[in-house]
Amino acid sequence: MNVETIKTGKCPVCGSNEVYDNRGKSAANHRKFLMVSAFKSFTLESYVCTACGYFKEFISDEDMKNEKLISKVKEDWNKTSGGKIG
Ligand SMILES: [Zn+2]
Repeated sequence: MNVETIKTGKCPVCGSNEVYDNRGKSAANHRKFLMVSAFKSFTLESYVCTACGYFKEFISDEDMKNEKLISKVKEDWNKTSGGKIG
């Protein structure tokens, strides 16, 4: 587990505490969903550092516990191997 995450409220890039997230906010005006398949999607939580512009998205904790969604990803997506790009 990487503790250098913006989720702590501290920017891992510039060290600022000016970090904001949109957890629990309305979907309007936010990029809130990541499609997993035609009918399934992850809810995204976005974090932004207003000091340096660092921006990071995470799948919501709730969706990470959703075994159906996770198994759909494992089924449909590529397993990232860390090999060469492209
Ligand atoms: Zn920052």
